[in-house]
Amino acid sequence: MKKVLLSLILILSVAVVSAQKTYILCGKLVDTKTGKIENRKTIVVEGNKIVNIHNGYVQPKSKVDKIIYLKDKIVMPGLIDMHVHLESESNPSAYIERFTNDDADIAYNSVNYAKVTLEAGFTTVRDLGGSGVNVSLRNAINAGKIIGPRIFTAEKSLATTGGHADPTNGMSKKLTGDPGPKEGVVNSVDDAKKAVRQRYKNGADVIKITATGGVLSVAKSGQNPQFTLEEIKAICETAKDYGMHVAAHAHGDEGMQRAILGGVKTIEHGTLMSEATMKLMVKYDAYIVPTITAGKEVTEKAKIKGYYPAIIVPKALDIGPKIQGTFGKAYKAGVGIAFGTDAGVFKHGENGKEFGFMVEAGMPAMETIQSATITNAKILNMSTEIGQIQKGFFADIIAVNDDPTKNIKTMENVVFVMKEGKVYKN
Ligand SMILES: [Zn+2]
Repeated sequence: MKKVLLSLILILSVAVVSAQKTYILCGKLVDTKTGKIENRKTIVVEGNKIVNIHNGYVQPKSKVDKIIYLKDKIVMPGLIDMHVHLESESNPSAYIERFTNDDADIAYNSVNYAKVTLEAGFTTVRDLGGSGVNVSLRNAINAGKIIGPRIFTAEKSLATTGGHADPTNGMSKKLTGDPGPKEGVVNSVDDAKKAVRQRYKNGADVIKITATGGVLSVAKSGQNPQFTLEEIKAICETAKDYGMHVAAHAHGDEGMQRAILGGVKTIEHGTLMSEATMKLMVKYDAYIVPTITAGKEVTEKAKIKGYYPAIIVPKALDIGPKIQGTFGKAYKAGVGIAFGTDAGVFKHGENGKEFGFMVEAGMPAMETIQSATITNAKILNMSTEIGQIQKGFFADIIAVNDDPTKNIKTMENVVFVMKEGKVYKN
């Protein structure tokens, strides 16, 4: 009998230890669903999930539980950036590094980029293209080996020969070879299907295509259409078979229209979007990912002599300054807005600047936060797991000092970061 009792006590004490909870006392809490800011709430976290939300400040019942005091902060769910490149960061040597960097160099750099992104309050990101090292980066973060946001990666972007994401653009003919679907270069419907399946095999979560020319590739046009409608359709249909959605980089209007008609979910940048295309976006339930911060950055850097190769400068000065204006028009036309920055084109960790630029263009502050939380969660098929502070959701929780509806700049200074119940910044 004594023995049974002893083992019962042992079992009970183990149960208590494993059920350690964290009580987060929030002065203000942003409800991203209603768009309201509520006063005095307590979030209870257990393991990697939110298990309860109480009105007022509630103290833990057990001594093993922890308390985090955020009574003078504004608390909200972890932010989601739909467009980052965690493998790289803009610098004047970036174009030489294509020849000098090995995968290991890329990997070591990306470790820090991932860390600063999480510390800026972005607990989830969509990595829209790199060399493929981003797949290992995601895996290392998921395994707890390094610190970073939850990553949905496109692995390598798909392009056509000479297109924006052709990996051999600008190289001497001795080096270019003839990259194909395996390398993410597509020139037919069959190539399109194979390239998507190859990405799946390589570990991608999402497909990225470069539907038009781009600013930072060593090529003449920054906006011409670069895929046929049939190729885009083949990409989107194949991606769907593998449970992936498609994101399309696009500056020019024609390429954008083909992308929407072909079935892509998000249009990245959308710089020269016409009113007709905005209507098409609404009709097809496609979202624009603004990347205003990147537009501003390339405009500034293009003015520094030698920062970019000469062929890029006129493109940057033409495209860069137009992104914010188009975003404002698209918002007013009712186009769905999916918060995304193109971090990597500018310094990682400065993703929060985008909020201010969106507000400047006419989107209310609370809606920018909803875009970076519930809207993006929906696109990622994570609506019931991230983007809200709700019972049963992942404990991705951040805090800022000021009310963002009064001072949107506060989003550039995230002071508390928890991802899946673990504190990374306090
Ligand atoms: Zn990008």
